[in-house]
Amino acid sequence: MKWFARIKSELNKISFLRSIRFRMSVVIVLVGVICCCVMCFGILQSYFYRAIEVRTGDIQNQMKVLADHLVTYNYLQNPSSDVVNAELEQFSTLYEGRVIIINDRFTVIKDTYHLSQGKYIISEEVIRCFKGESVSNYDDANKYIEMTIPIQINSGESNQVAGVILVSVSTKSIENNYNILNHNALLISCLVMTGVIIVAVGVSHFMMRPFDRVTKEINNLKEGFSEEIITVNDYVETEKIVTAFNQLWQRMKVLDDSRQDFVSNVSHELKTPMTSIKVLADSLNTQEDVPVEIYKEFMTDIVAEIDRENDIINDLLSLVKLDKSSSDLNILPVNINKMVEGIFKLLKPLANEKKVDLIFQSHREVIAEVDEIKLSLAIMNLIENGIKYNREEGGWVEVILDADHQFFMLEVSDNGIGIGEEDKKHIFERFYRVDKSHSREINGTGLGLAITRSTVLKHRGSIKVSGEEGEGTVFSVKIPLSYIQ
Ligand code: ADP
Repeated sequence: MKWFARIKSELNKISFLRSIRFRMSVVIVLVGVICCCVMCFGILQSYFYRAIEVRTGDIQNQMKVLADHLVTYNYLQNPSSDVVNAELEQFSTLYEGRVIIINDRFTVIKDTYHLSQGKYIISEEVIRCFKGESVSNYDDANKYIEMTIPIQINSGESNQVAGVILVSVSTKSIENNYNILNHNALLISCLVMTGVIIVAVGVSHFMMRPFDRVTKEINNLKEGFSEEIITVNDYVETEKIVTAFNQLWQRMKVLDDSRQDFVSNVSHELKTPMTSIKVLADSLNTQEDVPVEIYKEFMTDIVAEIDRENDIINDLLSLVKLDKSSSDLNILPVNINKMVEGIFKLLKPLANEKKVDLIFQSHREVIAEVDEIKLSLAIMNLIENGIKYNREEGGWVEVILDADHQFFMLEVSDNGIGIGEEDKKHIFERFYRVDKSHSREINGTGLGLAITRSTVLKHRGSIKVSGEEGEGTVFSVKIPLSYIQ
């Protein structure tokens, strides 16, 4: 079978042989050839056997008439009747046949070939014929019809078989007619096949035209010559291909738009700290004899801007990593209670500095299949935001953990500045910060919630935001306990 696979792969390299157009033509031609062959063969065969049948019937009738003449002229006793002999010769010439007349002693009294005259013939057919049974048989190998006809004498009530006529007739004339018809059928088949090939090529070309149009329209779209959406509704198949392509095209456009937005946002966000650093450094450079205190103050600002730049770059790297496939997640069973406690420990110093209380309420111990590092970072963003965007006095951030048989729920709520309804629609977008001037005072990149949302979605979970502006914010996260591939 290896050679077959090799031939197949070699043929596959010829692109023409792989085209539907070619294959469709081949199928039509094959169907045409098979139908034509079956029809010709069937018609010719049935003609041939029908001709044999008719010839056999003819001869049988003639021999019955002859048998009557033999009885009338008492030929079996006296085989010298000129009338009968002439009749026998005429038949023999006309049908290229041999007639043998056998009497009741199995002796040949007449052979038109003059070969067996006076001899005995005791064959099965002859014996059966003496019993009144007429036998006919077509010998396909030697191409002749052989038959026996009883010569019956009417003696009172019953018919008595007094002799047998043994006839063998050549079927050459039928054969000749068959050959002529065969030759004609071959010619007609060739003509029909030429027609079928032309039709096959034409039909396949015509049928495949909508697919050519699909390719042309896609190329036009690629080159920018055509409109946004392709329509080729000739076939259900082309409609399906075109619909799928249009959806893909729209998605690519959205992705391209968001990529362009992202690139311009990134460049803008990265440029801002750089501009500040340059302004600070320039002002130090251009001043003569700058006091050490001013120097230190400017350098502190420069370091803060460098830290900010660093934060943005780190957040961007986290986002880029998350955008990769979910196979990057390192999924293991994790104790979510312990994970939250770990985050609290890390954020305690910041909470103390901002005078915000951290409260953790767990309804049960939750073990879930998650990527601990990535999910910790996501939840940490939420709690850190709760601390950062909080009030100056009496602020708190509460984390409530609960689970059912399928999901675990984490609610991060605070009594901070809250988020307006309009802003809630955008806070998960990259670089989006509510009230830029106010947020500027609070360190941040505008990427934290984008990272959190992306992480939660990678875990096949959901995240929602609620709360009133000026009263506080609630982030509700819901993630499956078992990771869904
Ligand atoms: P940032 O680095 O600015 O904190 P995020 O993506 O984490 O970026 O948050 C986006 C914006 O959403 C923040 O700038 C802030 O204005 C708003 N925000 C996020 N969390 C809270 C919260 N708990 N309370 C009030 N505003 C919040």
